Amino acid sequence: MAGMGGTPVIILRDTRRESGNEAISNNIMAARAVANAVRSSMGPKGMDKLLVDSIGDVTITNDGVTILKEMDVQHPAAKMLIEAAKTQDKEVGDGTTTVAVLAGELLRKAEVLLDQKVHPTMIVQGYRMAADEAVKIAKSIAFEAQESDRALLERIARTAMTGKLADSPDSKMAGYAVDLVLNATEDYGEKRVFDMDRVNVEKKVGESTADSEIIEGVVIDKEIVHQNMPRKVTDAKVALLSCPIESKDTETKTEVQITSSDQFQMFMEHEKKRVKEAADKVIASGANVVFCQKGIDDLAQHYLAQAGVLALRRVIKKDLDKLAKATGANIVTSLDELKPSDLGSAALVEERRVGSGIMTFITGTKKSAATLLLRGGTQQVLDGLERALDDALHAVADVVEDKKLVVGGAAPEIEIALRLREYAATLKGREQLAVAKFAEAMEIVPKTLAENAGFDAIDKVVELKSRHSSNKNIGLNAYTGETVDMYELGVVEPLRVKIQAILSATDAACLILRIDDVLASTKEPPARGAGGMPPGMGGMGGMGGMPGMGMGGMPPGMF
Ligand code: ADP
Ligand code: MG
Repeated sequence: MAGMGGTPVIILRDTRRESGNEAISNNIMAARAVANAVRSSMGPKGMDKLLVDSIGDVTITNDGVTILKEMDVQHPAAKMLIEAAKTQDKEVGDGTTTVAVLAGELLRKAEVLLDQKVHPTMIVQGYRMAADEAVKIAKSIAFEAQESDRALLERIARTAMTGKLADSPDSKMAGYAVDLVLNATEDYGEKRVFDMDRVNVEKKVGESTADSEIIEGVVIDKEIVHQNMPRKVTDAKVALLSCPIESKDTETKTEVQITSSDQFQMFMEHEKKRVKEAADKVIASGANVVFCQKGIDDLAQHYLAQAGVLALRRVIKKDLDKLAKATGANIVTSLDELKPSDLGSAALVEERRVGSGIMTFITGTKKSAATLLLRGGTQQVLDGLERALDDALHAVADVVEDKKLVVGGAAPEIEIALRLREYAATLKGREQLAVAKFAEAMEIVPKTLAENAGFDAIDKVVELKSRHSSNKNIGLNAYTGETVDMYELGVVEPLRVKIQAILSATDAACLILRIDDVLASTKEPPARGAGGMPPGMGGMGGMGGMPGMGMGGMPPGMF
């Protein structure tokens, strides 16, 4: 076990057992280190992190969940915090940094209570009561939002993307995000339901982000497999295959012993026949366009081309799924099962040149589909754009589904903190202390937003609190430092993100508080890459950009 100077530290093997308060406080320390690591990235003025992985690939981001996912953290308590942020990402698609930061602060406040000899179970109970109440408060201060209010939806998208893009084509992107969501939302009984599988985003390096555009239909980043195939098929009958188009024998890798050239000739004839049979099955189904997840034998390509069939091979599963949704085709797993009724339809399938590459466009599909083709100078710009867009898509979808939003700029957190204090005063037992601490912890959100924007955190929180007595929508404009009505400023977020952030953070904190025993397992740890160097951590520690993460307060053996 070595120190933190970028050298590996592995715990839990050959360590002694930790129990009681020692275990709890070590767990809290580890989890808080993770929270501190992402804290400076929160909000519109949050800083970026440069993540370096074990093979030296670089990601620049201030997206909480991306940072957390890349962190190679070993401590189980720290991992729980990361899991909570991932859950947040999966469930609602935004608010991941908030989860980590809030959970870290809940734990910091819990430590104070532990020092005052409040039992962890009591803290957990109080925190749960506070979280329930906080959710009620959030709901009570929420606004109604209608899908028809496009301007409002665009503001949701813009808030979710704020600070995530270097140059700021936010407004155009916000519009695209709304288009994509509305296109992929359907009535499901009484409800409006968004289907992420129907959102298509393709990236192609070149031009600039401003050249990104929405295309009606699905775009696949692949060329047609054979040069003699048509470059364009109208009135397409689309087959989707998850099996290869090849001779069955090669598929099953039978071993053939060949001893003479006659035998070889015979074998080749046989193979040819089998390949033709495979191609014929596709042709017989009536398909004139084929998207194949696996390979297509050279000879099969030739037969398909002869029959005027356009085919793409090695199409990724995700794209097949999208094509299935858009064209109405079934994905078929074996050529023997391919029937005319499995085919989907599209008015046009064609190849087009995009930048320096070729992509295949499927338009006029049975079910309307839209693809956002992202353009940007480098792969990193594109990846960043995609991450920002992803947050925006989910945020807009949350609002379209729930029709509820809250304002941003920490206005809800301030209101929740204020009202939770009132609620705490109505309680008798020791939970009261925990609820009050929970209220204090909520203030980490305005504090962090203020700090990251370069303003005095305490001053701003005091100002926000005092102004809340007359207007509960007062939040912090992170650009100017003014406390303003966030609804008027147009900074709005899905209610669902706020509620889920509170619940996820509370869950993570409570989970960690309930552990009072850490036992070393006898299982061998998995082999580590590149000399056991935790990649993300090493890189980031080296950059000095991670407060609390680096050399400071962490005892060796934490990660
Ligand atoms: P998360 O991963 O938690 O979504 P972000 O870095 O996206 O973290 O920051 C979200 C926070 O930034 C929210 O509290 C949101 O209200 C706030 N925010 C977004 N835009 C603004 C703005 N223009 N002014 C003030 N706060 C903002
Ligand atoms: Mg966000």
